[in-house]
Amino acid sequence: MTDNNTWTAKIKRTFTSVLPVAENRKGKCIHCSRCCKLPNVCPFLRYRGKKSYCAIYPIRSLNCRKYPRTESECVTLKGCGYRFK
Ligand code: SF4
Repeated sequence: MTDNNTWTAKIKRTFTSVLPVAENRKGKCIHCSRCCKLPNVCPFLRYRGKKSYCAIYPIRSLNCRKYPRTESECVTLKGCGYRFK
């Protein structure tokens, strides 16, 4: 995790989540759940064995739906299934 793991960064990501996802984003979510802990553990994060899932996945917020929207907003670059090229 980087220094961007703050409430200020989360609020910024929330407001900018109405913008499109960067075209240079490649890869896919590998459900590591790291972004579900930014900066606190989400109350909707659940575990089935070692696998994590979202209890409200169909109606999750844009912020979660589009994460990581841009490289600069990506806090979990190490370990995330998405890359920016
Ligand atoms: S950090 Fe990346 S791979 Fe992990 S759950 Fe979030 S989007 Fe998916």
